[in-house]
Amino acid sequence: MRCAFCGHVNLTGAQYCRRCASAIEVLCPECGFICNIEDPYCESCGACVGLTGQAAASR
Ligand SMILES: [Zn+2]
Ligand SMILES: [Zn+2]
Repeated sequence: MRCAFCGHVNLTGAQYCRRCASAIEVLCPECGFICNIEDPYCESCGACVGLTGQAAASR
């Protein structure tokens, strides 16, 4: 699981980067599915998650 912020490769399943402490995975606010923070939408229900989704939702 590669950190989207610093590129540090963490163990699979890690939720926070060991180098910069950024969140690697995010819980979907709609269904609770664990999504990659690089993914704009939840794989399970299609809700906006991650950095891209939050940026789009704020507009
Ligand atoms: Zn990092
Ligand atoms: Zn979802």
